[in-house]
Amino acid sequence: MISLQRRLILTYALFISGFLSILAFGVNVFAGKIFEGFIKDAIKARNGEIVDAIGALYDPARGGFDGGALDAVGMLFVHDGYIVDVEDSGGERVWDARDMNMRHCVEALREIGLRMRTRHGLESELQNTSFFVEHGGARVGQVNIATVGPFFYTEAQGRFLASLSRLLIASACVFIVLSVFVSIVLGRSIARPINAASAAARGIATFYAAGGRRQAKGPLETRLREEYRTEELTELSKSINALGGELAEGERRQRQLTADIAHELRTPLAGLQGTVEAMIDGVWAPTAERLAACHEEIVRLAKLIEDMRVLTGLEWEDVALREVDVDLAALLERVASDWRAGAQEKGVELWLKVLPATIRADYDRTKQVFINLVSNAVKYTDRGHIGITLDRERGGGGGVERLVVTVEDTGMGIAARDMPHIFERFFRTDKSRSRNTGGCGIGLSIAGAIAAAQGWELRAESVAGRGSRFSVVI
Ligand code: ADP
Repeated sequence: MISLQRRLILTYALFISGFLSILAFGVNVFAGKIFEGFIKDAIKARNGEIVDAIGALYDPARGGFDGGALDAVGMLFVHDGYIVDVEDSGGERVWDARDMNMRHCVEALREIGLRMRTRHGLESELQNTSFFVEHGGARVGQVNIATVGPFFYTEAQGRFLASLSRLLIASACVFIVLSVFVSIVLGRSIARPINAASAAARGIATFYAAGGRRQAKGPLETRLREEYRTEELTELSKSINALGGELAEGERRQRQLTADIAHELRTPLAGLQGTVEAMIDGVWAPTAERLAACHEEIVRLAKLIEDMRVLTGLEWEDVALREVDVDLAALLERVASDWRAGAQEKGVELWLKVLPATIRADYDRTKQVFINLVSNAVKYTDRGHIGITLDRERGGGGGVERLVVTVEDTGMGIAARDMPHIFERFFRTDKSRSRNTGGCGIGLSIAGAIAAAQGWELRAESVAGRGSRFSVVI
């Protein structure tokens, strides 16, 4: 399997190289064709110049060409690759470059032919073109020009063409190198965050595969860089970080829960153990009172374990709610009457104001919610009153009508800093005091979980020292 980075580099480099090669080839061919056309025109123009120059050497007074001047001018053309001979009007050859210097003529043509073949890959042959020379409208002779055909480059033109193609090849090479470089940078910038994300995910998997044993700075705490210029890479890193954060928080909660449970069980069990051992050793007589205290502690522990079981069931399992028609007003009256005596013992009045209402709900669980709220109100109120109301309210925007059950008290209230935590398991505002009240910080967690399972909302408001109000919106 090929790595993402290598794949990107290869694809990008191949694409750019292919593109540039085609471009360079196209430009080369295209430029070559244009240049060829230009050269052909230049040769034609040069032929015209030669004919004009030779025509100028016609002397009408003598009725012929100036032989001396032809010697001087004609040989100049040989150097450029044009082998010229001149005929008079009778068709008789009056001057021929070959007669002047045959070797020079042959050499000139051979050199050009060789250059065209070796440097430009073009096979050429000798080409003859004839032009009439006119004077005063009458034909006075003919110029025959032999050149390398169908066209040829002069030394300078050949050099220009070679430099042009060298320039093209060089720029293509530079672009290919640049494109490889760019693709390496691009490939790295994409592959690096992906590799980091997959390493982080692998770390998390290994952590759990190893039984979730925590290292000093475990993989769950590893955080990836989140700012990238590519949106998807930023999202990927954020998701991995969020996953790690959630798992770390879950781990923390699980450990905290285990520690809390151990703590909740250890203290009363130690007390029980001490009492029972003292009775076995005969230090304490097993009086009915002591046995009743032990029994009370055992009942409390059993309730705690049962609460934990209920809560776990509510939070983790797909709770099957046994929905029936519940007469909510009657249910609240029953809860109130169960707790009224307890409140009165503390000198607290417990009153009830309910509208008749029937809902579809799980009876036992619904009752559990209100037992927990009312028992808390009784536990944490030492003066004043506790009020239970059942009323109706309209949802936001005058929408659905909802039932609201409120349990309010004039008790000790809850400090603002504790409010965000009161629904957490084992949270108590005052640990030592709740032991006296028998609370272990699980009642509100259960109420919250039941409310959530039935699709209700549980609200809490409180002012420390003034009282609290818990509302269940159904
Ligand atoms: P507990 O079994 O300790 O009462 P809960 O989960 O029911 O546990 O409540 C969590 C904490 O919230 C309590 O320990 C208490 O500090 C606070 N609390 C709950 N209800 C009230 C209330 N009506 N008045 C004052 N404090 C309350």
